[in-house]
Amino acid sequence: MPLLEGRRGLIFGVANRRSIAWAIAQALAAEGAELAFTFQGERLEQGVRELAATVGSPLVVPADVTSDADLDRVFEAVDQTWGGLDILIHSVAFAPPQTFEQPFVATTRDDFKLALDISAYSLIALTHRAATLMDRAGGGAVLTMTFNASQRTYPNYNIMAVAKAALEAEVRYLAFELGSRGIRVNAISAGPVRTLAARSITGFTVMEEHTEKNAPLRRNITAEDVGNAAKYLCSPLAQNVTGQILLVDAGYSILGMSL
Ligand code: NAD
Repeated sequence: MPLLEGRRGLIFGVANRRSIAWAIAQALAAEGAELAFTFQGERLEQGVRELAATVGSPLVVPADVTSDADLDRVFEAVDQTWGGLDILIHSVAFAPPQTFEQPFVATTRDDFKLALDISAYSLIALTHRAATLMDRAGGGAVLTMTFNASQRTYPNYNIMAVAKAALEAEVRYLAFELGSRGIRVNAISAGPVRTLAARSITGFTVMEEHTEKNAPLRRNITAEDVGNAAKYLCSPLAQNVTGQILLVDAGYSILGMSL
């Protein structure tokens, strides 16, 4: 029997077919999950609707994660459609483009607030709303996406690294608090994958080349690798796994020194 038969998942973060959220969606759908999607802004609507239709999605709704009103509308629509929820995927991040170019020490208060609001606070806002619906399902799985720049310095990643450090701490606090309700909260820390968001990071192709040359497995990961890890973390196979950051990075993060 498929691992996720009868499970209902809500996915934030599909921009196009290259999005990590879309690879996760395909992996979950292949295991029998039914999926709802959000999209950010009219520009992305048509593309997300077309992708969602290929996995038979019953619900596609707009949402800007900085808007509480938008989020309330999304979860109300999920409630009306399913009356409960089993899986929440948070695959959303943004920092103003200049923050990847200017010195980290020059980060402005406004850029800090925006990056942390969209990339870190949003996990709390979504999980809070999802938990009420997961209670009706007797528990659930929340999954977010992070990057190892939260732990070590990477050139140009700057304020997004701070946002990822906050996000990873949130994973632990949410897992701690929601565990007694049967809700698990985990993150996947992925190596570089060429997506829309990744292209805005100055020197992204250098990161890819560096990984291929130095990672223990001598290759870059793919979005499908992340989808496979997500399938595990959202399924009963991971029923006693919570508060964890799973590295899917061809082993790059274990290096102390590269040659
Ligand atoms: P992507 O551009 O396909 O996805 C980013 C998504 O964030 C988009 O769907 C975008 O619409 C959404 N978003 C941004 N601001 C938003 C807002 N205000 N409201 C709602 N949605 C908003 O890129 P991706 O690489 O698939 O990124 C997904 C996640 O994976 C991010 O958290 C990213 O940091 C993380 N990640 C990516 C890589 C990589 O190399 N691509 C590596 C590690 C972690």
